[in-house]
Amino acid sequence: MQKVDDIKPCYPLFRQDEYKESLANKKAKFEEGHAADKVQEIFNWTTTMEYRELNFQREALTVNPAKACQPLGAVLCALGFEKTLPYVHGSQGCVAYFRTYFNRHFREPVSCVSDSMTEDAAVFGGQKNMIDGLENAKAMYKPEMIAVSTTCMAEVIGDDLNAFITNTKKAGGVPMDYPTPYAHTPSFVGSHVTGWDNMFEGIMRYFTLNTMDDKEVGKNGKINIVPGFESYLGNYRVIHRMLDEMGVEHTMLSDPTEVLDTPADGEFRMYAGGTKLDEVKDAPNAKNTFLLQPMQLEKTKKYVETTWKHEVPKMVIPMGLESTDEFLMKVSEVTGKE
Ligand code: SF4
Repeated sequence: MQKVDDIKPCYPLFRQDEYKESLANKKAKFEEGHAADKVQEIFNWTTTMEYRELNFQREALTVNPAKACQPLGAVLCALGFEKTLPYVHGSQGCVAYFRTYFNRHFREPVSCVSDSMTEDAAVFGGQKNMIDGLENAKAMYKPEMIAVSTTCMAEVIGDDLNAFITNTKKAGGVPMDYPTPYAHTPSFVGSHVTGWDNMFEGIMRYFTLNTMDDKEVGKNGKINIVPGFESYLGNYRVIHRMLDEMGVEHTMLSDPTEVLDTPADGEFRMYAGGTKLDEVKDAPNAKNTFLLQPMQLEKTKKYVETTWKHEVPKMVIPMGLESTDEFLMKVSEVTGKE
């Protein structure tokens, strides 16, 4: 704590026990990081001849792989749900970047709003922006769900999404029962894939955490497919096709194939396709949940295993013949279909 007669600058301040504890808690609870001994073990391995030889055997190498920020992943995740408007609490420039990035890749307009925090909000907090922003976004674009994520600015000043959204509802900006899942997506931790994971977990938590009493694993006879940050729409389609041909009933949890590939017939569609909210509510009743990019979905895995009680199958990304075979064999094992 700062005392008025003894204000410390950041360096000595962050060395106080209180801050050390707070940073350690943040790391343990929110960063999904590996234990210090595991990090040290991997570091030691990278200094061995075995590692050097493996490196020399590489035929393809990416130095500084493309890495975007967390809310970009959160926006892609939100776009995959029916009539959902991604809403970013923070600066407008960040959202312009996300939209441009997706426009260029998908060649589609990408609907996403921000509450345009500026200098005053950076000093006094962005609650006012959130109250106006949620109300305006709902009134103007008429989504059935608004999925809220954050930019660096809101995270640096420590804006509390749960409190802000609750206060917006209390102020009458949006109805109390209006779906507003959220995820804190600070870009100084992780990358776009972490943001996707955080937003997905936020949406699942919103719709299923308090409604687990009547849920039963396997009740709906389906399997859940969680794609993770997947920007090639053909991959979603081929997975649907393969599972349909096997007769496997499934729910793709976050499916942006329609909204990011609307027909060029002159009509703008702000919302198209996407996973239905009823399917999200029914997801815990599935036989199992397949995480297609398991390394990137740690938070989701933890939630699905502890809250839905699904035994998430161990697998690698179904990329290439061998891994795709492995994925389909796992599906066959779980469902009994061939
Ligand atoms: S890294 Fe932070 S400031 Fe930069 S675009 Fe992403 S959210 Fe915005």
